[in-house]
Amino acid sequence: PSTTAQPKPRLRIGVMGGTFDPIHHGHLVAASEVQDTFDLDEVIFVPTGAQPFKLDRDVTAPEHRYLMTVIATASNPRFTVSRVDIDREGTTYTIDTLRDLRKLYPDAELFFITGADALSQILSWKDVDELFGLAHFVGVTRPGHELDDSGLPEAGVSFLEVPAMAISSTDCRRRTAAGMPVWYLVPDGVVQYIGKYGLYTRRPARRADYH
Ligand code: ATP
Ligand code: MG
Repeated sequence: PSTTAQPKPRLRIGVMGGTFDPIHHGHLVAASEVQDTFDLDEVIFVPTGAQPFKLDRDVTAPEHRYLMTVIATASNPRFTVSRVDIDREGTTYTIDTLRDLRKLYPDAELFFITGADALSQILSWKDVDELFGLAHFVGVTRPGHELDDSGLPEAGVSFLEVPAMAISSTDCRRRTAAGMPVWYLVPDGVVQYIGKYGLYTRRPARRADYH
């Protein structure tokens, strides 16, 4: 048997950023499909802090969004959740997310997963060049949004068609506010969590840290 030490293969880590207000099956299917296609060891879900494109609406408290993301991903051994964005002060920029994860996983290959709608905003992001140096980008299809690759650097981006799930967090919030069900749009535990804390209803939501 050879005694030559094999170089340890680099960990392949997916990064799924999102507001996750709430997390739904569209997010989970996209992450699962990218995990399988790109043979990722792990997909890290990263709930955002404040977000540049969402400063105009009241986003649910980070702790609630974090906990719903934990509940939704708990049963998948390849899915984990990171607090890097919600523990950082101020607005979340993807560049900071990737820099923080790079520090935690210096040797890993990072794959940033993003839906067609978010991908079209990439070019307006800060520090685009450094972004493409930190991670490979995977653009996934999303019903109702064109996957527009124009203007994106070909080398740094892959595109993947994922099973179409016409679900958005906005719809889940509207349905809950209107008294309509979100069963089967979000994981069962997330339905129950939304009910437990009265999220997305007009009455003030309970805080996750009240006991
Ligand atoms: P909101 O309606 O509040 O904007 P959302 O449903 O768009 O919520 P986000 O948290 O904004 O969810 O999305 C996080 C990431 O997941 C983005 O990259 C987005 O493009 C992607 N994504 C969201 N929903 C889907 C879906 N149904 N199919 C594929 N990708 C999705
Ligand atoms: Mg969105």
